[in-house]
Amino acid sequence: MARINDHYLKLAAGYLFPEIGRRVARFQESHPQAKVIRLGIGDVVLPLPESIRAAMHRAIDELGREETFRGYGPEQGYDFLRKAIVEHEFEPRGVELSSDEIFVSDGSKCDSGNIQEIFDVHARIAVPDPVYPVYVDTNVMAGRTGPADSAGRYEGITYLPCTQSNGFKPSPPDESVDLVYLCSPNNPTGAVFSQAELTQWVAYARQHGSILLFDAAYVDYIQDDSLPHSIYEIEGARECAIEFRSFSKSAGFTGVRCGYIVIPKEVCGRNAAGEPVELHRLWARRHTTKFNGASYPVQVGAAAAFSDAGRAEVRERVVYYLENARIIREGLTEAGFNAFAGTNAPYIWLETPNGQKSWEFFDHLLENAHVVGTPGSGFGACGEGYFRLSAFGKRDRIEEAVERIRKL
Ligand SMILES: *Cc1c(COP(=O)(O)O)cnc(C)c1O
Repeated sequence: MARINDHYLKLAAGYLFPEIGRRVARFQESHPQAKVIRLGIGDVVLPLPESIRAAMHRAIDELGREETFRGYGPEQGYDFLRKAIVEHEFEPRGVELSSDEIFVSDGSKCDSGNIQEIFDVHARIAVPDPVYPVYVDTNVMAGRTGPADSAGRYEGITYLPCTQSNGFKPSPPDESVDLVYLCSPNNPTGAVFSQAELTQWVAYARQHGSILLFDAAYVDYIQDDSLPHSIYEIEGARECAIEFRSFSKSAGFTGVRCGYIVIPKEVCGRNAAGEPVELHRLWARRHTTKFNGASYPVQVGAAAAFSDAGRAEVRERVVYYLENARIIREGLTEAGFNAFAGTNAPYIWLETPNGQKSWEFFDHLLENAHVVGTPGSGFGACGEGYFRLSAFGKRDRIEEAVERIRKL
């Protein structure tokens, strides 16, 4: 029999969302009349913008005509999209990038999960706790950790606690690590790093020769203009940071699939002899070997998100979800909950009442309000005693959910 990758067996058995699914299904079976409102999974609900759909239709028709048919595209992404990204996402923030520093992909989950492949198996990693589970799990699979303890913490990972006392924004650790994952605005806490805080991280990375892996999937939700939108707004970041972006949460591309990585030419790791090697070169090699490009209609659709009409439609969606977030946050605060975030992110992070464990509160909310959220403990040990509610929902359902929670 073929030997398996044993590291997979270290992964915590019940991944968060399947477990939520099981509990909700069990509840629905015994309460068929209950109208359950799901504010659990972070998936958008509003339909794809009209201008994006129209562009995608035209792209499909081009593929249907002999004169305009296209086969494989450039693996790194079409020029028209990479140029639009640089011009609309970075230049307005004063960030200069060259379009060949952008690698278009089919989404950020793959990118943020795959990036670790170009680093040594002994690379020491640091992750915020709690955070998007992909960073930790992909490093476990790669064999960079020992087993997990009872709180779900893996041996060998440096956890960066995100607590009320630090505003859910960790400072650099005392020890030296090779890779640091940062997520801002953060999923699940909704916290956004300030200019000063990111400056500290860049200084840390340059001092220790670490690489910052900066996930900005929710950047479009940042309303406060003084907050950095890109890690490259920080001086020196071009030498030590990689950034991840996605069209999923802004343009509603969770089902369409498109994202990108930014790797400036200056960012280097070192080889066995201690000599610097450009990470751009390594990722280009990996990307072109393992990926054949996002589909043409998808890239045309993504570029349409930067047209005047596209930007207005994307903006409308972001405003809609942020209004949902406001309704949830204010409703819960009035009901006596300790609720955080939801102003620059589509998530509300709340402290469970009376010191309940995250899963206890999950069951309580499901059974008594018929509302589904996400237990904070599923995002890391420091998420225990917290709970995430997503603002991705239809307005009437959001209002109803808040009403029910208030009556608890
Ligand atoms: C949703 C999300 C992504 C985006 O994933 P896609 O694969 O692009 O849909 C990336 N990072 C975080 C933290 C997310 O929550």
